[in-house]
Amino acid sequence: MLKLIDHIVRISARRDRTEINTAFLEAVLDLFRPHSLRIYRCFSSASKVVVFACAGFGEEGTFSHNAYLPERRYCKPIEQDRLLRQAHREASIVLDVLPDGSNRLVFPVHSMNRLIYLVDIVISETFPAEQRVLLMGLVEYFTHHIALLDYGEGDTLTGLANRKTFDKHLFEVLGQAANDEKNSFISGQRRRKGGQDGRHWLAVCDIDHFKQVNDTHGHLIGDEVLVMFARLMSESFRYDDQIFRFGGEEFIAVLQPAPQSNVLAVFERFRQAVETHIFSRVGHVTVSIGYSQLLPNDMPSDVIDRADEALYYAKRNGRNQSACFESLLAAGEIAAKTSAKGEIELF
Ligand code: GH3
Ligand code: MG
Ligand code: MG
Repeated sequence: MLKLIDHIVRISARRDRTEINTAFLEAVLDLFRPHSLRIYRCFSSASKVVVFACAGFGEEGTFSHNAYLPERRYCKPIEQDRLLRQAHREASIVLDVLPDGSNRLVFPVHSMNRLIYLVDIVISETFPAEQRVLLMGLVEYFTHHIALLDYGEGDTLTGLANRKTFDKHLFEVLGQAANDEKNSFISGQRRRKGGQDGRHWLAVCDIDHFKQVNDTHGHLIGDEVLVMFARLMSESFRYDDQIFRFGGEEFIAVLQPAPQSNVLAVFERFRQAVETHIFSRVGHVTVSIGYSQLLPNDMPSDVIDRADEALYYAKRNGRNQSACFESLLAAGEIAAKTSAKGEIELF
């Protein structure tokens, strides 16, 4: 019992998803010795749910990945796993008896009406009943802690990640970008992973003339537009692109590494999705988008400033368009004052 309380204290002291996962994993392994345990983070879009195995223990040994940065190689569509899909559909704990007699349990975790995690545990068929009660209590405690954290990291109106989460996320992505650049430099593959095609992109998306929406239809209808806009945004980007409500009617997308031409297509698709959507009681609404590439030596404010500069260009030039900082700079449409920062050569 003392050991259990000690583990609960350790989990409750954490405020970071990756650390909470690790503390929970250590607790379950130490107290219950299951056959396997996997903690999945779930990403839902309009068409599919993808699960990211962010921590666990099983055939692949014990693992814990950064829970904020889903890596494609640890992700799979939920469709590939019958029991995960069932837990998602039924929104309740599901049980399966495996061919060797062991019991597989999947616990769904919900926050703000969304499935956010699945905890998948395989235990022996001879697992004592009183231990089962304790294990389920611990999983339940973990799910409450994660749901509470999710609530703190989310924007209460739109359900997207909030500004505070964005600051943390951007630091992590920039740290990863700097590491990638350093590693590819050491291995002599400088222009492959750290090259221009291997960098993340950040876009600031700002609704056009939103003040008029509020003035004409009232704040509550304005809020509904924000909720719908956030939904269109979630549906337009991939599950591993991160989107945030930055504040007011400004949203940010951080895209996975991609070539410039693909990125333009992604933002244009989103811009058109907004342009063609008919917002209830308001009708048509448009968005202006400014975007720029993340550079390995950027401070968070550097990349936001560049994307903002492109956004102001889009606003000045008629709104309802996407503008790329790097293209505007190359075309001489904006001045080079902020361009060279971060682009420091390694030799
Ligand atoms: P622009 O095309 O230049 O971006 O014009 P705009 O009217 O969208 O920009 P401006 O910054 O002048 O106005 C933004 C408005 O967004 C003002 C503010 O009342 C509104 N706003 C900010 N947060 C919220 C919110 O949570 N709900 C609602 N309904 N309105 C909000
Ligand atoms: Mg605006
Ligand atoms: Mg604005």
